[in-house]
Amino acid sequence: MPVPIFSKIDRGQELTRVDLIQLLDLCDPDDLKWLYQKAYELKQRFVGDRTYLRGIIEFSNICRKDCYYCGIRRSNPDISRYQMSVPEILDDAIWAFQNGYGSIVLQSGERDDREFLLFVDSIIREIKSLSKGELGITLSLGEQTRDTYQRWFDSGAHRYLLRIETSSSGIYKRLHPRDHHYATRKACLQMLKDIGYQVGTGVLIGLPFQSVADLADDLLFYQQNDIDMIGMGPYIIHGNTPLAVQARRDDDAGPDRLTMALKMIAIARILLKDVNIAATTALQALSPDGREAGLLAGANVIMPNVTRKKYRQLYQLYPNKPCIAEDKRDCARCLRLRIEGMGEKIGFNEWGDSPHFLTK
Ligand code: SAH
Repeated sequence: MPVPIFSKIDRGQELTRVDLIQLLDLCDPDDLKWLYQKAYELKQRFVGDRTYLRGIIEFSNICRKDCYYCGIRRSNPDISRYQMSVPEILDDAIWAFQNGYGSIVLQSGERDDREFLLFVDSIIREIKSLSKGELGITLSLGEQTRDTYQRWFDSGAHRYLLRIETSSSGIYKRLHPRDHHYATRKACLQMLKDIGYQVGTGVLIGLPFQSVADLADDLLFYQQNDIDMIGMGPYIIHGNTPLAVQARRDDDAGPDRLTMALKMIAIARILLKDVNIAATTALQALSPDGREAGLLAGANVIMPNVTRKKYRQLYQLYPNKPCIAEDKRDCARCLRLRIEGMGEKIGFNEWGDSPHFLTK
């Protein structure tokens, strides 16, 4: 057991890049147990003992982007594209509200046309009005202009998730076509922060070309950019994407993406303390109780799918996506059993804002 680093954590000392690399390299089961328990303890101390729910509505898979890892990329001809109607979206959102979810996430493929801007704007306003301002709204709609971000904020959205995907501009380049820019993505995060959103970001874990040192830099990126919420998860190979070939080649070395993702969650909690961290759905794609493992390793947010069943199989960013044959009612029951079954409390009817944001 690497005692010096553990006692450093116990004493609450600042962790260096070398420390983070050492923690990411841990593989002894007792060491991992220590790490997860420590992160869990810090979660209870800094963000409380409740798990917060964000009902996610994946309202369209139409996307102008062409990310090499993503199943709904523009160049994938093998999926049919959909866009939910306003009444469908409102219906799912209000269902989440009535079932105590406290807040929702509106996510979709990326579009930047005016029609889309106005469509989203009207949904935000309707949800705010139907819930009398009570339902929290997080957006996860990619890169937009400052004016668009501002307009959606003014209409009532208060949190925004935009993953940086990797903090290495070199890796970013290898994961995206030439017209997708790391600098733009980073600038968007800054704009969101300036406007006043609670800002969430995250990375893909276990990518081709990615080393443990890169993951340590990802953690430092969160810290340096004063991020309020983290949503990161394992990269899962989608066969119908350009990155699959390289990733399968790498997989001969057998990266354990689930464990690496759990370590990232735990170390992020130890490093950042009072931020919200999601146990993302991709964890569950790798293991049936992946999300519960995430909660035990320091995460405090879960994003149950509240999208109506008929669209679920069309929103597969990665294969093996869990719960696509289920309805939101099944998901609600199942999650409650799972989370409460672990002895955890659920923060029903609460926004569950990031304490990091609130104390700024
Ligand atoms: N279009 C929006 C949101 C949808 S994509 C945006 O770009 O922000 C949401 C996230 O899914 C992405 O940020 C990416 O990190 C993740 N994702 C995409 N493909 C994935 C894959 N193959 N494995 C795991 N996560 C993936």
